[in-house]
Amino acid sequence: MKRILLAFILVSFFIAPAFSQTTFSDETKKYIEYNDSVTVFKNALLIDGKGNDAKPHQSVIISNGKIKWMGDDATLQLPKGAKLIDLNGKALMPGLVMLHEHMYISAHDIGTRYLHLKQLPFTFPRLYLAAGATTIRTCGSIEPYSDLRIKKDIDLGLLPGPSMELTAPYIQGKSSNFPQMKENKTPEEAAAFVNYWADQGFTSFKAYMGVDKPILKAAIDAVHKRKLKITGHLDIVKYREAALLGMDNLEHGFMVSTDFAAGKKENEKPETGTAIKGLGNLDIQSDSVKQFIQFLIDKKTGITSSLAVFEGATSTQPLPVEDAVSAMSPDTRDFYLKRLVNTKSAKGITDYDKAFAKAAKMEKLLNDMGGLLTVGTDPTGNGGTLAGYGNWRAIELLVEADGFTPLQAIKIATQNGSVALGFDKSVGTIEIGKSADLLVIEGDPSKNISDIRKVQYVFKNGVGYNSKKLFDSVKGKVGFN
Ligand SMILES: [Zn+2]
Repeated sequence: MKRILLAFILVSFFIAPAFSQTTFSDETKKYIEYNDSVTVFKNALLIDGKGNDAKPHQSVIISNGKIKWMGDDATLQLPKGAKLIDLNGKALMPGLVMLHEHMYISAHDIGTRYLHLKQLPFTFPRLYLAAGATTIRTCGSIEPYSDLRIKKDIDLGLLPGPSMELTAPYIQGKSSNFPQMKENKTPEEAAAFVNYWADQGFTSFKAYMGVDKPILKAAIDAVHKRKLKITGHLDIVKYREAALLGMDNLEHGFMVSTDFAAGKKENEKPETGTAIKGLGNLDIQSDSVKQFIQFLIDKKTGITSSLAVFEGATSTQPLPVEDAVSAMSPDTRDFYLKRLVNTKSAKGITDYDKAFAKAAKMEKLLNDMGGLLTVGTDPTGNGGTLAGYGNWRAIELLVEADGFTPLQAIKIATQNGSVALGFDKSVGTIEIGKSADLLVIEGDPSKNISDIRKVQYVFKNGVGYNSKKLFDSVKGKVGFN
């Protein structure tokens, strides 16, 4: 029986229809530049996503959506009828695996009673793919049926977009300022909430602010019972406490840790400003900080950096990216620019600036001590983040603020993301047998990380999309739909 099965696999490998079996809609086809039975990249500067040095003069053969061969140009045997793409002067790297993405932008003013979030099912998937994010985790849903549908339609080839790891609606605590989120009053309610959304097809979870220890414990246990994973953006529960309860991951690097807030009482929110102040005053070389990080590592709690969403509140807030601003619809643009002015810290080094700098260095420490650091964008519009453009900024900040080399930053944004999602057998690096999720970059991001902005083609499952055409298709529309 086994032998027959093996023979079948071998035969199907050679005779399987070579081009993508997905039937793309006319709309998706507009953005597809390459969809050939066999594609050969030649003369590439190869960045493998594992942190190894970039290698010049490399060839990669892809077929059936998978990487079939890779090696020096000199040893390439060109398959008959293959589409040859010469990458002279360009780099080839894995598609980005970004872990704190959303399908919405925030649409609320500071000081309003309700914090409203607006789903963007048309523009956001395109922005992610255009920027090179071939896999995203949605990290908290506000329109769950829309998220399910977007994923389905992308997978069917009806819409252009990334592969999506779906995170359920936020697991909230007893009260929420977001009217789109369910308030969970008891641990039993939280467990039922987890089971309901797991039944609907969500494969990851996120606990949110306002969740206390009993509710978090119930949620973690329910998620783990389903053999799924849970991350969190917490405030009442400290990182150390969450790790002890079995939390798989924590979002926002260390910027939302309340472990160092003076006077924080168990199971209560810290006083306003104390968490940031505590973080800013930390001596990160101290034994206590190292022990704190070692504890997270020992408990196998990963950390997702999302510095781009915080940078806007520092006193050194960068200027808005022109392309990102022109991608927005008029109302969104006005609101976005107004909010940037509102969130920026006053001139001079503030508590927030200090906390931002320390939190970034702690991310580096976690990685260097052997912990799992990933990266995401939180493209809520807050702090200037937007899908696509914000992905690039989040990765640049791993170099600028954390102090990683560009190759390390790329590894965090590719291989590490795939490891955290449990997808590392299929995506995240350029290796034979993995999905052909590849970026053609008109530059060298191994030397200058900002060159990731020069993405020309985005290959997802072996199909090459034109980045510029995708960006152009949403110009003036982001925020509207
Ligand atoms: Zn978020």
